[in-house]
Amino acid sequence: MKSQVEILARIEILSDEFVSSVEDICDLRRALTTKNLMLLDNNATNIEPRQITYTDYTLLEEINTYMCFAICKVVEHKGFLSCRSIDHYKAWIWLLNDGNYDKIYWDDYANYGCPILLKIIELYNIPFSYENVEYSVEKGDRDIFYTMAKGQICPNCLEGDTSGC
Ligand SMILES: [Zn+2]
Repeated sequence: MKSQVEILARIEILSDEFVSSVEDICDLRRALTTKNLMLLDNNATNIEPRQITYTDYTLLEEINTYMCFAICKVVEHKGFLSCRSIDHYKAWIWLLNDGNYDKIYWDDYANYGCPILLKIIELYNIPFSYENVEYSVEKGDRDIFYTMAKGQICPNCLEGDTSGC
C-alpha cells in the first residue's frame, strides 16, 4: 500500500489538474490519517478523528465486490456511473501499489471504460459473477460486456438501441 507521503503528494497533483476526478480524490482522502487530512486541509480543526479502513485486504475486497456494479452500469450504458467506477478503481489500484496500476490503459475510455474493466477482471482474477447482494448481471450481459470490451458495438445497439455504444 502507498505511504501517507505518497498519497498526500498525489492528491496535490490531482487537485491541480483541470480534469481531476472528485471520486478519485475522495478515495485517496479516505486513506489518510486524521492528522494528515487536517494538514491537507490547511490545518483544519473540524475533522473528526477516524480510523483508516483501507488496507491491502480491504482494497482487494473493494476491487472484487464493486465489479458487479461496474459491469451492470457498462452494460446499461450509464456514462456517469461507469465513469465513477473507473475513478474508484483508479484510486484503489493506485493505493494498493501492487504494480498493476501501470498495466492498465486508464486513458482508453472506449465503450464506457469496458476494456479497462476487463483488464482489471483479468489482473485480479475476478469471477464474472451474475449477482451480488444488490445487482445482478443477466446471462446475456456477458456477451454484451465482452463485445464492448473489444471496442465493438454491443448487440443491443446493433439492433437499434439508441443509448449508444
Ligand atoms: Zn451498446
